[in-house]
Amino acid sequence: MNWVPFELHTHTPHSDGRHSLLEMCREAKKLGLGGIALTDHNTVSGLAEAKAALEETGVAVIPGMEWTTFYGHMLTLGAPYCEWRDLGPRDIHKGIGRVHEAGGIVGIAHPYSLGSPICTGCHWEYEIKDWNDIDYIEVWHEMMPPYKNHNVPALQQWTALLNEGYRIAATAGRDWHHSDHVEGWSAFTYVGLADEKDRFSAESVVKAIQSGRCIVSMGPLLHVEASVGAASYGIGDDIDAADVGESREGKDGETSMSLRIHVEPSAEPGRFGDEVQVTKLIIESNVGELAVLPWTDQQSAAEHHLQTEGLRWLRVKAMGVLYGGFTTIAFTNPIYFVSR
Ligand SMILES: [Zn+2]
Ligand SMILES: [Zn+2]
Repeated sequence: MNWVPFELHTHTPHSDGRHSLLEMCREAKKLGLGGIALTDHNTVSGLAEAKAALEETGVAVIPGMEWTTFYGHMLTLGAPYCEWRDLGPRDIHKGIGRVHEAGGIVGIAHPYSLGSPICTGCHWEYEIKDWNDIDYIEVWHEMMPPYKNHNVPALQQWTALLNEGYRIAATAGRDWHHSDHVEGWSAFTYVGLADEKDRFSAESVVKAIQSGRCIVSMGPLLHVEASVGAASYGIGDDIDAADVGESREGKDGETSMSLRIHVEPSAEPGRFGDEVQVTKLIIESNVGELAVLPWTDQQSAAEHHLQTEGLRWLRVKAMGVLYGGFTTIAFTNPIYFVSR
């Protein structure tokens, strides 16, 4: 799997951004990003500049839009302009259907940002009657997201939805409006693609996010490989409970699954070292924390064996030092357990 770092939430002067698409792609290249999603407010007109930006910088531009409404902001990816102006607070599923029909996916942007009078419509207020319709949630928003208060309930809500059995991807979004020098860092959404060149294909990127092949990080990339018998699985994959059972029967008394985790330095050259330091890895699941494993950069991998009874999903979280504080540095999307 190729894990390509993306920035999935950006604006240009076609809405309220201050940098052109070309300027943003130049900055994206410096950050080590392989692609961005252009998500201007209620317009896709900025895409006209995508070809030139790609030719100069090599940074892929995925078409998107941020539906900016009185009842919430919704990101779309991989779809052309879809009409949203006729939707009321109880009609969001009608709008989501339009995006899905056009081949795109939808994500809730910054669900817990302050709304009116600070920012009209920034707080999510649409009625969601079926969470199966939501493809992803932007659980980390803005620069330095682990330190932003409004991201705390977003992460909690995503976790609660996973516990209820929904498959929804989690992403990060800088909500990038300008490229002036700013203190701190944005997060990456690493997207898992079969081929590195797939980053130029909106369809491939959309499919990867929809499948939950995403790692959200302040830099370091978390590689996670689960082994059950001879089979191996990665982030976004389903593990069939029956396979785990068979493998256990075959190896009398042995634990049923092993997880191998490796931390790779950041995509951005130089964004690693004293200011971003992973010190422990936590395996989280629907039944709580399964293990806490210490991590040092000298290590090649951390390995843990676990029982899978009762598991519906698990993910790995990296914690450590970030810009002088101790916080979450990265987390993966889940590996899922299913019974067929
Ligand atoms: Zn917004
Ligand atoms: Zn935005």
